[in-house]
Amino acid sequence: DKFYRELPKVELHAHLNGSVSFQSMEKLISRKPHLNIEHSMTAIRSGQRRTLDECFQVFKVIHQLVDTEEDILMVAKDVITEFAADGVKYLELRSTPREEKNTGLTKRRYVETVIKAIHECKSEGVDIDVRFLVAVDRRNGTEVAMETVKLAEEFMLSTDGLVLGLDLSGDPTVGHGRDLLPALQRAKNSGLKLALHLSEVPSQLEESDLLLNLPPDRIGHGTFLHPEVGGSQSLVDKVVKNNIPLELCLTSNVKGQTVPCYSQHHFQYWYQLGHPCVICTDDKGVFCTDLSQEYQLAASTFGLSHEAIWKLSQQAIDCTFAPENLKQELKQRWIELQPQGL
Ligand code: 5GP
Repeated sequence: DKFYRELPKVELHAHLNGSVSFQSMEKLISRKPHLNIEHSMTAIRSGQRRTLDECFQVFKVIHQLVDTEEDILMVAKDVITEFAADGVKYLELRSTPREEKNTGLTKRRYVETVIKAIHECKSEGVDIDVRFLVAVDRRNGTEVAMETVKLAEEFMLSTDGLVLGLDLSGDPTVGHGRDLLPALQRAKNSGLKLALHLSEVPSQLEESDLLLNLPPDRIGHGTFLHPEVGGSQSLVDKVVKNNIPLELCLTSNVKGQTVPCYSQHHFQYWYQLGHPCVICTDDKGVFCTDLSQEYQLAASTFGLSHEAIWKLSQQAIDCTFAPENLKQELKQRWIELQPQGL
C-alpha cells in the first residue's frame, strides 16, 4: 500500500546478515557455488514457521556466504540502499564483528568495512542517515564481549559518532547475561548506548531483571516481560519507570514462533500502556519482509488508523540514539513529508 511505502520511517532493529535480500543472496550464491547453498536455506517464506533454534541455523548458512571484506561491503551497501528505497530515512544497523581465518577477515576490518559502506552510500546520494551498533553474540561469552566493547569504544571515537552503541543478541537459550554484565557496564560508562535483546524466550526472567538494572537504552523484543505471558509486574515497572523503548518485530516473532499469532503479539500490551514502541524488521531477508509491510501489519492487526501509524513512525525518532541536532532534522523532514489531512 502506497501510504506505508511513502511513510517516512525509522529502522532501529536490523541485523546486517539477517537483512540480506533475495537479490543480494543470488549474487552471493553465484560467487560461491562450491558451498551448494540454495536460497530456501537462507529465507523463511510466507506461511512458513521455524523454531528459534532453526532460525539461528539460518544465520550460520548466511555467515558462510558472507565471509570476505568484499561480501560485507556489498551486502551492507545493498541493505542500506534497500531500506532507503522502502522509505527509511534513518537506520541504526547492527552486526556482529566476525573473524574469518580462511579469508583473513578480522573483526576490526569487519567494522571498518561496514563504516565504509555507510560512507559510500552517503557519497552516492542514497537518501538515508545510517548509524552502526556493534553487536555482541552472547554465545561467545565474557572475554569476547569485553573485546567487542573495546572495539566499539575505539570506533565510537574514530568515526565521529557513526558508531553509537552496542547490541546484545544471539541465541537466547545459550549463556547468561550475568557473565556479560561487566562488558555491558563498561560500554555504558564509556558512552555507548545499549540495545539489548531481552526476554525473547520465557526462561530469561532472572536475566532480564538483572540487565534491566543497567538500565539499557532500548529493549529488543521483550516478548516475555509482561505478566500475561509469564513475566512480572516488577519487570514491567522497571521498563516503564526508566521509559525504555521496545523494538518490536511482528513477522520475526511469528515466524520464529515465540509469539503464537499476530493478534497475540505483545505490541498490543505495550502500545495500550502508552509505552514507546518502535516497529522494526529484525531480519528483513530471513523473514522476507520490509518495514512498510511491518507497519501495515501492525495497522491491520491492531486496527490502527493512518494517523496513529504516522504518530508511531514520528515517535520512533525520539527512540533513536542520534544526537539531538539530527533528531531535530528528522522531525523537520517528517513535517515536510506529512500528507495533507493527517
Ligand atoms: P550479523 O550480526 O551477523 O550481521 O546478523 C546475524 C546475527 O544477528 C545472528 O547470528 C544473531 O546473533 C543475531 N540475530 C539476528 N536475529 C536475531 C533474533 O531474532 N534474536 C537474537 N537473539 N539474535 C538475532
